[in-house]
Amino acid sequence: MNSERGSVELSNVTKRYGDVVAVDSLNLEIKPGEFLSLLGPSGCGKTTTLRMLAGFEQPDEGFVRISGEYVQGVPPYKRDVNTVFQHYALFPHMSVAENVAYGLRQKGVEKSEIARKVIEALDMVQMSKLAGRRPRQLSGGQQQRVAVARALVNRPSILLLDEPLGALDRKLREEMQIELKLLQSRLGITFIFVTHDQEEAMSMSDRIAIMLDGHVEQLGDPETVYEHPTSAFVAGFVGRNNFWQGTATNDGAVGSDGTVFVATRPEENVPTGQPALAAVRPECINLSAAKPEDIRNSVSAKVVGVSHFGDVLQYVMAAGSRDILVQVARTNPARFSVGETIWCSWPAEDVYLFSARQSDLVLATSEHK
Ligand code: ATP
Repeated sequence: MNSERGSVELSNVTKRYGDVVAVDSLNLEIKPGEFLSLLGPSGCGKTTTLRMLAGFEQPDEGFVRISGEYVQGVPPYKRDVNTVFQHYALFPHMSVAENVAYGLRQKGVEKSEIARKVIEALDMVQMSKLAGRRPRQLSGGQQQRVAVARALVNRPSILLLDEPLGALDRKLREEMQIELKLLQSRLGITFIFVTHDQEEAMSMSDRIAIMLDGHVEQLGDPETVYEHPTSAFVAGFVGRNNFWQGTATNDGAVGSDGTVFVATRPEENVPTGQPALAAVRPECINLSAAKPEDIRNSVSAKVVGVSHFGDVLQYVMAAGSRDILVQVARTNPARFSVGETIWCSWPAEDVYLFSARQSDLVLATSEHK
């Protein structure tokens, strides 16, 4: 058996539409059986990348290998991949079973084999009982299950999923995330999953490729991209962050608002005196009424909003002209009310420090939150 079956390699792949560079010298290697998400803001090139893997688009430069084979010029139906789209695109006049059987019929597969494979595929997504229904008699989640069954029926070694849960409401979406993840681990096939929802990518993926402007900004497992973002863009896109623009010092930075940061694990080495960007995640900030002994890594701020999210309390704090987001576990007994002026402080090991080159990107990203 081909040990590369299910692997994908994109090497220096570029795709242009007129003047727009949709994908820009992109490099990415995906392992057989991996659940990999392409995550990034709208327009960063996720769908274009997926379409090149599916064979709906051809790269202008670079090459693509699927299961070890170069696929330049190979049409979609001859590739070892199948795609599930956000809009299920089921045939409305056909039953669930007929929808799933369609591709096999087109290929002239023998009837009894079609019947067996359709049942098997519908079983995988727990839809066998509804095999006789028409798509309009199904909920959104059920329709998407049928679309997944249809894509799996001829057992591709790679499944491409383009925002497949985007049209579902939140609760159903979360249920389907768990189901898809279980299905993927059970079948052991490669899933390449496009999403702009970072929580979805974090909860499902073995690795995440965070994309920006047509290239991969960082590739890593969920914990690594969260804990060790290699750029301010990733620090702002994956999870949440509070950013301060300022100037690097020999052990951290000074924000333009005077906040002093000591950073014990700077992500980038920023020379003293150079513009820098400091970042602290909301859950790393502690709140206290008492002024800390060392006021480095702390700032006085007024509570302007408190929201309850079940497991966490989220405070919006006003410090001068800026807001600071703070998340505190519900189990923490301390409570503060709107109008109180208190202290926000954070440990030095939780300060990210970046060169300021990406400030504009961070601001652009926050619009997607
Ligand atoms: P979204 O999350 O909004 O779907 P995306 O990350 O999937 O975005 P793409 O759809 O890959 O992004 O688009 C990347 C860039 O290429 C965008 O600037 C888009 O406008 C452009 N683009 C995509 N398809 C075409 C096309 N057929 N013709 C012209 N430009 C295109």
